[in-house]
Amino acid sequence: MIVQWIDRKGKVLTPSNIRCLSEIPTVNLTNGCVHDCIYCYIRGYSQYPGESIVQVYRDTAGKIADELKRKHKKPATVYFSPSSDAFMPVPEVLDQAYQTMRLLLTRGVGVQFVTKGIVPNPILKLFAQYPQLVSGQIGLCTTDDHLNAILEPNVPTASQRLACMSQLMDHGVKLSLRVDPLIQGLTDSTSSLEDLFFNVAKLGIRHVSVSYLFLRPAITRSIQQKLSDESLSQRVLSAFSNTGDARVSGQSIRAVSLPATVRASGYARVNQIARKYDLVTTLCGCKNLDLTSSHCRLTNLTVHAKSQNQEEQLHLW
Ligand code: SF4
Repeated sequence: MIVQWIDRKGKVLTPSNIRCLSEIPTVNLTNGCVHDCIYCYIRGYSQYPGESIVQVYRDTAGKIADELKRKHKKPATVYFSPSSDAFMPVPEVLDQAYQTMRLLLTRGVGVQFVTKGIVPNPILKLFAQYPQLVSGQIGLCTTDDHLNAILEPNVPTASQRLACMSQLMDHGVKLSLRVDPLIQGLTDSTSSLEDLFFNVAKLGIRHVSVSYLFLRPAITRSIQQKLSDESLSQRVLSAFSNTGDARVSGQSIRAVSLPATVRASGYARVNQIARKYDLVTTLCGCKNLDLTSSHCRLTNLTVHAKSQNQEEQLHLW
């Protein structure tokens, strides 16, 4: 693993071009992510630093403090991180996450996050002080750790992520599950979803957002190179043969999707299984424009924030 420090060019708090995030500022603490998920779309970015390399932006908290000073109205909440993971297992990144989240929370700005990592104790304790301001999503697509090790080589195991969910909830964090990407024939079997949903429902999770894998050239190359088991690679990629391009909302790059009928019946089945466990599913509209106009709402939750000396609940989407 290689960790490099870099200076950020431009603003920290930036709107995302992903539709579900278009209304809140987002923060990436790094360029690159050492989780090295084989399906990760950042592999296609021109600034992608490479496998197991992470470039950490210097003093993100200080820069946000300056930006907040210049804003007429502070944001209700900030989202971590559309193109990296704030809780990857790199001490420099976790330290930046702590400093940045503390800065926001102490100024009354909410923190929303999505992660496949483990939230460390100091940050759990920080979150516990601001339960009305913090919500998050944990990315987990299957409890099969043999598959997880292949698809997400540097990500904690399913049981570690489930334990992290439990800890976050014990510290007052509103939490949901993100099943993205669901991979046809690999992670979307009924038994796999039953086991996943059973385990998260047991923790008290009630919301799940879901989306099937989309392919872009860099993702296809990564799957071909990383899946040494050729039959596995074939199983993943053959499902995409004879399918057309699809547009991902807010992004100029086209992606290859599973046929709409395959996705629609897959989502219907996911929904049916989820309902057995009292889970409410939300489909990501950004990546399924042909099926729904709904927002997946990423963290799919609301935050409370102080505004004009009054506490009000802000619905973010
Ligand atoms: S955790 Fe997210 S950002 Fe990091 S490699 Fe995996 S998909 Fe990409």
